[in-house]
Amino acid sequence: MVFLKGCNLRCFWCQNPESQSAVPEIMFCPQKCIGCGKCVEACPNGCHGVTREGVRVFRREACIGCGRCAAVCASEALQLVGRSMSVDEVAETVLRDIPFYRLSGGGVTISGGEPLLQDAWCRALLKCCREEGVSTAVETAGNVPWKNLERILPVTDYVMYDVKVLDALMHREWCGSTNLRVLENLRLLRNTSVNLIIRIPVIPGVNDTSEFVAEVGNMVDGYPNLMGIELLPFNKLGKAKYTALGREYEAERLAELPSRKMQELRRFLGSRGVVHNDGRDPG
Ligand code: SF4
Ligand code: SF4
Repeated sequence: MVFLKGCNLRCFWCQNPESQSAVPEIMFCPQKCIGCGKCVEACPNGCHGVTREGVRVFRREACIGCGRCAAVCASEALQLVGRSMSVDEVAETVLRDIPFYRLSGGGVTISGGEPLLQDAWCRALLKCCREEGVSTAVETAGNVPWKNLERILPVTDYVMYDVKVLDALMHREWCGSTNLRVLENLRLLRNTSVNLIIRIPVIPGVNDTSEFVAEVGNMVDGYPNLMGIELLPFNKLGKAKYTALGREYEAERLAELPSRKMQELRRFLGSRGVVHNDGRDPG
């Protein structure tokens, strides 16, 4: 998996908040801090310190994401998330595992954030992988101009495509943008030869109904390139990352998703003859 930072949606339930901003960020876990003070010396902007009362402070607003503090933090209380890398650097890393891909039948997947905001970079990496005979996949929420998607298709074996909410205004409310491009791009994907996997992050109170799943199923019914629909159960495992990024975890107020609900929806999909797999985290 290659994760690209930067996303133009803000899904309420996002489990990868560190992937939303396109710039490097510091994640700080005060519980791991041993008080060595090395970060205080290393930071050029005076972001780290301790008050007279002995309270450890981190002035995030002054942080430029240079990563010097994280580099000297032996306890890993500070971690830099994200760095600039060239296509060649990443290709060199992922292609080291070619023997493993051959053995496992795996390959390289580009995810995010929204990787197709950097479509030229994605295409270049996917092309390198293709030339070495490595299977290629892209995970996308589809909220990009069609040309961005079109550009990567010739070098992509699988597109994993998120469908979260169908009503445009509800989509804006829950995800920060309408879904007009998402649905239009999904329509256009029908006429391509890429293997298409639809992914539904199942969110309690938002889209956890058989009606919603049926609507999505109807939308892609008859797509010759449809490989299946995956249901990805909501969970709250991303909470610690919000805290480490100094952000509020608003999805706390969403209910837990009972496992019987997922079984019910999976059975429902199965009864409609739609192939489905067990999903991973919702993005
Ligand atoms: S370098 Fe790490 S362990 Fe040391 S004071 Fe800074 S945050 Fe704490
Ligand atoms: S990333 Fe750089 S600017 Fe930000 S807190 Fe660490 S040393 Fe300071």
